[in-house]
Amino acid sequence: MNVGAIERGRHALDEALATLGIEEAAVFHDGERWRQAEATMPVLAPATGEHAAEVADVGAEVAAEVAAGAGHAAEFLRLTAPEERAAACLALGQRLHEWAEPLATVLAVETGKPPAEALAEVAYARSYCSYYGRLAATDLGSAGQVPDGRARVVTRRLGIGPALLVTPWNLPVALAVRKLAAAIAAGCPCILKPSELTPLSGGLLLGRALSSTDSTAWLAVLPTSRPAELVDALLASGQIRKLSFTGSTGVGSALAERAARHGVPCSLELGGNAPALVMHDADVAAAADAIVRAKRRNAGQTCVAPNRVIVHSRLHDALVDELRARFEELRLSGPLDLEAGLGPVIDERARRRLDHWLAAAEEEGARVESFATRPERGTFVSPTLVCGLDPASELLEEEIFGPILPIIAASDDRAAIDQARSASGGLAAYVFCADSIRGAAIGERLNVGLVGVNRGIVSEASAPFGGVGSSGHGKEGGIEGLHAYQNTVSVLFDEPDLFGQAAEALDDSAEVAAVHA
Ligand code: NAD
Repeated sequence: MNVGAIERGRHALDEALATLGIEEAAVFHDGERWRQAEATMPVLAPATGEHAAEVADVGAEVAAEVAAGAGHAAEFLRLTAPEERAAACLALGQRLHEWAEPLATVLAVETGKPPAEALAEVAYARSYCSYYGRLAATDLGSAGQVPDGRARVVTRRLGIGPALLVTPWNLPVALAVRKLAAAIAAGCPCILKPSELTPLSGGLLLGRALSSTDSTAWLAVLPTSRPAELVDALLASGQIRKLSFTGSTGVGSALAERAARHGVPCSLELGGNAPALVMHDADVAAAADAIVRAKRRNAGQTCVAPNRVIVHSRLHDALVDELRARFEELRLSGPLDLEAGLGPVIDERARRRLDHWLAAAEEEGARVESFATRPERGTFVSPTLVCGLDPASELLEEEIFGPILPIIAASDDRAAIDQARSASGGLAAYVFCADSIRGAAIGERLNVGLVGVNRGIVSEASAPFGGVGSSGHGKEGGIEGLHAYQNTVSVLFDEPDLFGQAAEALDDSAEVAAVHA
């Protein structure tokens, strides 16, 4: 990484922050106004290891006050008109569109991802604003009758109340907006606690974007270096009615237990370890294209990244050749480097973990092939193919979260399916075969929530996104994602007796009425 790129990165970050109106280091939004925090914390740029910015570090002392503000906002937000909620979603989407470039610049510096990927992430985030903007004004509840026709039922969906959104660093804009858009559409005030690694793009800038619209949406943004303390204080406030968490399986499971103690329902989007199955009749070159596309995104740091390619043994060598040809073309690129390559992994700890797994795999006798030389600065990891792994290798057990791709041969399609089925759960899987309908049927057997058949993209605003078992529960996206932030209220009232038939039927009905009482 050269000095020019570092300086360009720093200058672009300052310019972007000024454009977005974040000039003071220690501000956070409490849902009503921007406030000064008592302390600040640093943000580091993973591509250079440099100090990129200083931001507010909010402590548990603000929790009760912010939660009370959210509780108050919930009273009026749950009753706002559907069109008003829709307009708030669309206004956020419009602001993300107008601010896409500076927002993507900050995102690229904070995460190290190339600008083109950062821009794509902002566009993906906007797709949730458009989708939920449309849905808010059309998913209007239901009206019907009880089965014996004696009463009517009107069921409305109302905002569940203050929602606490806890998000990770890997797709900080998209994963926060995915929650935020659904919660706004549902009529919930939100408290967003972004990752301490991406507090600007994943939090403060989104607060700025929303507060610059004239919608009634309510959002507090609380960056902190002490997440457990702050989240626990918010849960203990008695105001939070929903916790939506995206992050690692360990943190999410522990948090769900703490939320349960306060009676707070959770949606959990947790870790994945996606298999990519290449069946006996697959188009090997097309499969390699899609696998590399899905793997290279965010340098392999996505919860849906293919982490194990399981290929029919007849196609194994041909597939490895195709993958190698594509990995040879990958390069490593720094912040704001316009020639999109792979960015760094998020920090030194992540890089050390990946290095450890590769060393262990080599010791176990696997063939490890790395491509693209690591630059001296920044937490880069070379894209790497690993063949001939021991089935008990850590590299197959753990969520890799980096540009390392293990490839395993299966004796036939049945064996490939058996290997891909995870006992503890799963989030995504990919299936490559000649017949997409057969691919879909295979995907449905895999114990995951999302399947890409002959494609490397599985995430889409209209499709419910989420895993099973240890990958979490609850969905984001689709109508399920909206309903996750709503409660139903069913109002029953008797059918009117327009012409006195009820009196005639009264005798017959006495017995039935007694049963219903
Ligand atoms: P993480 O679990 O370390 O952190 C996630 C969030 O939880 C952050 O905001 C963090 O500050 C907060 N947190 C950490 N410890 C906490 C505690 N004790 N109490 C309360 N909050 C706490 O995860 P990460 O490293 O930021 O993100 C990577 C993980 O996220 C990977 O496992 C990845 O698979 C997962 N992920 C899942 C999805 C999905 O949709 N299923 C999407 C993206 C990432």
